Amino acid sequence: MLKVAYSPIYVYQVPERHRFPMQKYPLIVQRLLAEGTLSSENLFAPDKLTEAEILTTHTPEYWHKLKTQTLSRKEARAIGFEMTPQLVERGRYIAHATYECALYAKQYGISFNVAGGTHHAFADHGEGFCVFNDVCIASNLLLARGEASKILIVDLDVHQGNGNASIMANEPRVFVFSMHGEKNYPFRKVDSDLDINLPNDTDDVAYLAQLQDSLPQLIAQHQPDMIFYQSAVDVLATDKLGKLALTREGCRARDEFVLQQAKRNQIPIAVVMGGGYSEDIEDVVEAHCNSYRLAQQLFFSRDL
Ligand SMILES: [Zn+2]
Repeated sequence: MLKVAYSPIYVYQVPERHRFPMQKYPLIVQRLLAEGTLSSENLFAPDKLTEAEILTTHTPEYWHKLKTQTLSRKEARAIGFEMTPQLVERGRYIAHATYECALYAKQYGISFNVAGGTHHAFADHGEGFCVFNDVCIASNLLLARGEASKILIVDLDVHQGNGNASIMANEPRVFVFSMHGEKNYPFRKVDSDLDINLPNDTDDVAYLAQLQDSLPQLIAQHQPDMIFYQSAVDVLATDKLGKLALTREGCRARDEFVLQQAKRNQIPIAVVMGGGYSEDIEDVVEAHCNSYRLAQQLFFSRDL
């Protein structure tokens, strides 16, 4: 059973001037339900992070500022959203969902969070639309509770996961792999365990060659018992922020390769969304939906 984390709290009405397309989340779910890739049985509503869970990864000072809505104007601007209690609440659910997805992945092989991948959140501050670092919190919880012992983060968002790299810098049990646009945000990158910097306009062939050259080796060397996969679609040529040149088919082939690697090696894989900023929301929604369709085909032999 493909378990997919989603709840109405994922939809948050941001003012029109924000360029972050929150509307993709309900659209992805609606489409997957309408076409039969998912039924309501697949969906689950996550719980929210406790304060103790937040503090496995974030500093008490940062959490206090979030809780009391006392981030400075500059700190809020770095995140990119007007900070509200609802936004903090939303982040607590989404980050806990990523942890629950990891547990479902252990049970069923794969699981999805219809949000998450907030890889620009650091221990002591947020930036780039990221408040809590869901994958790092989930990783720390799995390790602390003995539910995983070696974790591989495969971050294929076009933006480098500087928050992941920073938080996990001194955690040898978590290997952070990021493949991203070299000339893109964040302009001051934090070293991951493995970074692949891609030049502008990297196309399907060059992109897939890099991935095929690196991921199987990483899995063989590090033998993870959990993979977090950030399947962002801001690698598309149509993306307004991405600067790479992947087609929708290339993006699908990327997902297929990652999912097959996990399946072949029998490593649970929890998939989080990350970015996607194409002018036409259809490009974003379709490319994300492909990840779910592939999961049903590859893991549950459902031909759609
Ligand atoms: Zn991104």
